[in-house]
Amino acid sequence: MAKVLILGAGISGHTAALIAKRKLGKNHQVTVVSPNSNYQWIPSNIWVGMGLMTPEQVKFELAPVYKRQGISYKQALAVSLHPEGDTKSTTPYVKIKHIVGTQKDTEENIEYDYLINATGPKLNFAATQGLGPEGFTDSVCTFQHAAEAWHNLQKNLAKMEKGERQTFLIGTGHPMATCQGAAFEYSLNIAFEVKKRKLDHLADIVWISNEYELGDFGMGGAYVKRGGYITPTKIFSESVFSEYGIRWITGAGVNKVEEGLVHYETLDGEYHTQQFDFAMLIPGFAGAGMKAYNKHDEDITPTVFAPNGFMKVDADYTVKPYEEWKASDWPSTYQCPAYDNVYAAGIAFAPPHAMSKPMQSKNGTFIYPTPPRTGMPSGVIGRVVAENVVAKIKTGTKENKHKASMGKMGAACIVSAGYGIIDGQAAVMTVNPIVPDWEKYPQWGRNIDDTVGVIGLAGHWMKLFMHYMFLYKAKALPLWWMIPE
Ligand SMILES: Cc1cc2nc3c(=O)[nH]c(=O)nc-3n(C[C@H](O)[C@H](O)[C@H](O)COP(=O)(O)OP(=O)(O)OC[C@H]3O[C@@H](n4cnc5c(N)ncnc54)[C@H](O)[C@@H]3O)c2cc1C
Repeated sequence: MAKVLILGAGISGHTAALIAKRKLGKNHQVTVVSPNSNYQWIPSNIWVGMGLMTPEQVKFELAPVYKRQGISYKQALAVSLHPEGDTKSTTPYVKIKHIVGTQKDTEENIEYDYLINATGPKLNFAATQGLGPEGFTDSVCTFQHAAEAWHNLQKNLAKMEKGERQTFLIGTGHPMATCQGAAFEYSLNIAFEVKKRKLDHLADIVWISNEYELGDFGMGGAYVKRGGYITPTKIFSESVFSEYGIRWITGAGVNKVEEGLVHYETLDGEYHTQQFDFAMLIPGFAGAGMKAYNKHDEDITPTVFAPNGFMKVDADYTVKPYEEWKASDWPSTYQCPAYDNVYAAGIAFAPPHAMSKPMQSKNGTFIYPTPPRTGMPSGVIGRVVAENVVAKIKTGTKENKHKASMGKMGAACIVSAGYGIIDGQAAVMTVNPIVPDWEKYPQWGRNIDDTVGVIGLAGHWMKLFMHYMFLYKAKALPLWWMIPE
């Protein structure tokens, strides 16, 4: 019996767990370790943050689903990897720390034959003084944060009902934060809501971001086909913001937050402040912070993990100038080079470099987005990794036949721009490939026929449909496996 251990039950880990168990059947063991008892469909947290959905609508308990599927589940935190075992045994294991129940605060070693690290991002609020729900800004990165954001936002809306002017500051809260798409969505939803309540004359909605220009989204921007014309995402985003009455500050590295005040540096080396009454700023991301040890119990964390805490995989990590970056630098099997039975899926893998051009302020501060790994690639990578692990167990092959490079695969993302069955709006964006490939597509960097951006009511319906479809799939309800990532 082979033991497959999956760390993290987010989009990537949960996908990997369901697929591995379905394909491996009863004869092999699949175990998931994750600290949160719930699965959450993170993309819909935007709507939780607007009071349009409740946390209950975007989450469900993992334990009953795993029980039904025959997957063993431990609500715990993975603390350290021991891929060679230790001084007592050569069996690889992961040390976990229980966080609930009678075992709370105790540690346990979970042995594995194959390990999939899908621990996603650590929301690194601590990297920016005063940032986050424990500081002075809100977040929509988890359903708890989003519910709190909605609680706070209502107070601002109530003040506006009384005629008070309010400033809403939305964007990135660290000079190298990513996930601009989520913040973009939230800013549009606030503008939509304010307009719906006929309060737009009292709202100053400000976008603040580390992007060099609007529409970069951490993927170096894109050229999209729109209504038969080819438009840079810069123009696309600027026209959407203009329509929604949102002004923008770009090339801004937020470095400190105080009550009602954000401090930031711009690429020209100047320091500025921006007042706010409500702010939702995305934090910097880091890896889960696990350590790794060899069989002599020596710390090998730098061998297994990059300095940002994400796991090294089959990418080309050679440090090279922006002009020499290639789509082929990006990994395709997500196997850890040091241990061929260890993989990292979703946000947990270390990207070889950014997609956006690195920019530095006159003071030497790096101000540019690190690369996003959105839901679709995270799910696809989870599937591909699970399929390779299954093939190794079932056939004994050493090869990773299944591949999914972000330099080759396309992705779709639907950006909500206002909720409503009749008056809703969303921007549908597809890019192919995700990482621009200037060698293969010298004119536009991507296949222009598959790189599209449209905005309209149909996009809202699609986003809503995807909410129900992906939650159905994640709950492993009948025929779930027919639904693609
Ligand atoms: C507000 C918001 C909106 C978004 N909207 C979209 C969208 O519309 N479309 C889109 O494509 N993408 C969207 N994204 C991005 C998408 O959510 C991510 O791409 C996706 O969640 C990444 O999946 P993942 O499995 O790698 O990480 P996650 O989903 O974050 O899962 C990581 C898992 O690891 C667990 N974990 C953490 N540390 C440990 C540890 N030490 N041990 C064990 N487990 C651990 C976590 O609890 C979690 O279960 C959005 C993101 C945000 C924040």
